[in-house]
Amino acid sequence: MKHIALYIHIPFCARKCAYCDFTSFPGKTHLIPAYLDQLEAEMRASAGRWGELAADTVFLGGGTPSLLTGGQMKRLMDGVRRWFTVAADAEITSEANPGTIDAAKLIAFREAGINRLSLGVQSFDDGLLRVLGRIHTAREAEDAVRTAADAGFTNLSVDLMYALPGQTMDQWLSTVETAMALPVRHISCYSLIVEEGTPMKAMAEASPACLPDEETAVVMQHEAARLLRARGFSRYEISNYALPGFESRHNLVYWRRGDYLGLGCAAHSLMDGERFSNTASLDEYLAGVRAYESEKLTARDVYEETVMLGLRTREGVPASILPAAALEKLTRAGLIAVNDDRAAVTEAGADVLNAVILALM
Ligand code: SF4
Repeated sequence: MKHIALYIHIPFCARKCAYCDFTSFPGKTHLIPAYLDQLEAEMRASAGRWGELAADTVFLGGGTPSLLTGGQMKRLMDGVRRWFTVAADAEITSEANPGTIDAAKLIAFREAGINRLSLGVQSFDDGLLRVLGRIHTAREAEDAVRTAADAGFTNLSVDLMYALPGQTMDQWLSTVETAMALPVRHISCYSLIVEEGTPMKAMAEASPACLPDEETAVVMQHEAARLLRARGFSRYEISNYALPGFESRHNLVYWRRGDYLGLGCAAHSLMDGERFSNTASLDEYLAGVRAYESEKLTARDVYEETVMLGLRTREGVPASILPAAALEKLTRAGLIAVNDDRAAVTEAGADVLNAVILALM
């Protein structure tokens, strides 16, 4: 039986955040029941196309999967178990927005089979949360983590963002400290990326000086890494830190280029060397259109993806696949270290990851 990571996209949000360019639609939660119908239809069709698939990990991302009610989550997970073989020890993650959960819903999510919760906190500073357009306060985010722990979640992750408009180093490190004082096992630290067409882009253009420069952003990352390391969180991927044994198994499949199947509006897949994706139009998806965009990867594509994704991780890539001359140059410069035929970026290399990758292309 083929083993995969299963991703399910839930594209509904309470409100659009100022920086967000994900496929997510505010104010459409009334469409969730019809969307779940389509997901079930897509699961059935996938089983027909791929045969029996073993889902070692399941990840509900978005959007805001925590907008589902407990009953809707049960229905979705019952469907997953009907159409896929889900291992008893599968990692089953749901992303959650702290402004959309309470104790009863989280208990229902646990009962539906969710055993890992990834909370989009972003900051524990109310002023910055307002700038980001988040629907929750810092206090609500802290309460959400504790409520999740009380509901029985032992595998909790929070997402944090740095290099935000007007953010000081103290504000950033205080957010990291607050996260580490909570019962979380995994922390993601993402630098803000100002995407075209977002309100954040307009804000950045109106007052460019409000954004920390690149050098400051790198120092913010270094300081956070230092604090996290001191508390036992190891940087296993460029933006991700975990206590031992709490690395995201699902995301490791992406970085290792394992097989994964994405269901739902705008979901991407990599199966048997072919990348394909669903329509990003919610109306089309609800009408039963899947509109695969598909790409059969060449050997060159596979090499480039392996390097781009693998060098994000602590485990790196097989040194033997890299061009010897470039590898030697990068090793001499202290940007890559090779151990047991695995080549991984050093801390200095992580700071200039794009340049390292470019040198290996
Ligand atoms: S909650 Fe997440 S997906 Fe939804 S708008 Fe905000 S950043 Fe985007």
